[in-house]
Amino acid sequence: MTLREQITALKDELFHLRRDFHMYPELGFEEHRTAGKVASYLEDCGLEVTRMAKTGVVGLLRGGQEGKTLLLRADMDALPIQEQNDLPYKSRHDGIMHACGHDGHTAMLLVAARVLSGYRDQLKGNIKFVFQPNEEDAGAYLMLEEGVMENPIVNAAAGLHLWTGLESGTVDICEGPVMAASHYFYLTVKGLGGHAGHINKAVDPIMVGSAIVQGIQAMQTRELNPLQPVSIVFTGFKAGYNTTIVPEQADLQGSIRFLSADGSGIKDSFYRVVEQVCSAHRAHFELEFKVGNEMVANDPDMTGLARAAALETMGNKSAVTAGLQSMGGEDFSEFARRVPAVFYFIGSGNKEKKTDYSHHHPCFNIDEEALVTGVEMHARLALKYFGLS
Ligand SMILES: [Zn+2]
Ligand SMILES: [Zn+2]
Repeated sequence: MTLREQITALKDELFHLRRDFHMYPELGFEEHRTAGKVASYLEDCGLEVTRMAKTGVVGLLRGGQEGKTLLLRADMDALPIQEQNDLPYKSRHDGIMHACGHDGHTAMLLVAARVLSGYRDQLKGNIKFVFQPNEEDAGAYLMLEEGVMENPIVNAAAGLHLWTGLESGTVDICEGPVMAASHYFYLTVKGLGGHAGHINKAVDPIMVGSAIVQGIQAMQTRELNPLQPVSIVFTGFKAGYNTTIVPEQADLQGSIRFLSADGSGIKDSFYRVVEQVCSAHRAHFELEFKVGNEMVANDPDMTGLARAAALETMGNKSAVTAGLQSMGGEDFSEFARRVPAVFYFIGSGNKEKKTDYSHHHPCFNIDEEALVTGVEMHARLALKYFGLS
């Protein structure tokens, strides 16, 4: 049987798996049922199965001969959203929903594992199938801490995301930066409380905080290189509780996202603006940065492999695009920072099937035909990596 025929024969199983995961969604680091299903499926395929990172699962396919190790990754977590779809396989868990397509990611990688396990004897190397918990809150770090890249050492990685913003029947693969680094800031501006009627005796943290918001906006548009995308957004500004009392402090927070390798200086500039504005207005401050995700940047060689796999899978040049970059974060970056890697998008949007709602929307759904494409992409990319196609 050709690869396509093998996958087509497993189509019912693929849809069944996805719908089952969809019906019983679980939040990050709570994917116990999902992980159990994943582990027993992988064992059934004859893979060596390891549990790690609370609810993570790794299936190792050891090839017939020694060689490199390729990591293929799927994420398993759902979101705290009440599903509004009326589907026979609608979420049975109140307030929890697969609204990002990770149910599909898990199902696709499982079926790819079954298909690829049929190539074990010809395989000169290993394939590590990684089912990661809690992608929505950067759960990958825990798998890295617990040694997912070792035993055997991983040489390259690939991952994908179903994408409703892309038309079903297309695949998008870009070289270089594809998903943004997302860092967070927490800023407390400390003024001096007092009476609104005697404002000259107080230091107003609301005024200082507002000046900082403006100053950061000016820094972003007048100091940073406009050819390197940066997005700085204040998502919180809390201060005060009474019409006559000047509060002691203002608490601001937000995110700094960038899609270029040289984002290191942004936080220095941010700090400088905060420090200088506070100093100019006699206020003090505390500023803390946290890393959400680092940037995902695709390796040229791995991108080439994925594109070749996509051209064969789609059989049509115009169905393989290279235009999707996102200011959203993706913790696949933890893998991509360590080995040559590629992360690409499988179009799953179809207006007629009403699968064009955005990710994280309560009516989110995917065109299931895209799942077949995803399995074939995983499998073809792996076979190409090992020179089997
Ligand atoms: Zn998501
Ligand atoms: Zn997602």
